Amino acid sequence: MPENPFKRGRYGLLKIIDLTIPITHGMPRFPRYYIPSVELQPTATHEKERRSIHRLVIGTHNGTHIDAPFHMVPDGTRIDEVPLESLIGRAIVIDLSNKEPRAEISSKDLMHASSKIRAHDAVLIRTDWDRMWGRPEYFTDQPYLATDCAEWLIERRIRALGVDFSSVDNPSQVKAGEVPLVHRRLLENSVLIIECLANLRSVTKSTVELISLPLKIVGSDGAPARIVAIE
Ligand SMILES: [Zn+2]
Repeated sequence: MPENPFKRGRYGLLKIIDLTIPITHGMPRFPRYYIPSVELQPTATHEKERRSIHRLVIGTHNGTHIDAPFHMVPDGTRIDEVPLESLIGRAIVIDLSNKEPRAEISSKDLMHASSKIRAHDAVLIRTDWDRMWGRPEYFTDQPYLATDCAEWLIERRIRALGVDFSSVDNPSQVKAGEVPLVHRRLLENSVLIIECLANLRSVTKSTVELISLPLKIVGSDGAPARIVAIE
């Protein structure tokens, strides 16, 4: 294979780190009937049509994605209405990679980062749970946030919370037809939620620039996104 001509490790003097899980045909998904399975299949090939085109079927919450307030709030902001200023900017990375499976993350765990967090920052919680991607436990045994953690972040008026696991709420406690409280509290306070981040262990600084761009899907509750950190 020739070297990828697009391959560049740096943006000028800055390092760019991809925090996105790759989108693949049949990729793992949260085991709920309302999360569709991802299909990625060719509709044109170089052999026949002399070009390559694919059909992509994906839910608005598959893989690395952003939740818009409308996900949990009936009259909440839709993903296409979220301003770019809420999607790009400073982010604080909090290392909780010592957390055990099914561990609850409380406001106490975030306290040490308190002085760094400013209004309108994004907060990224690193647990390294993305190492479990591809195993069934990824969706069942993940760490999750306590409600007091959501309240603590809301008080700090952050613009977004990113996590390297599949749901900010405890997946084993959220039943169909019930409101997942951590989601609900964050989204009704205009804190965007970025779920299924990956590779936060590659970030070496505690403050980075975050670029998180969801697909501009009109009226949507969320969208798959490419998320990168620049340090
Ligand atoms: Zn979601």
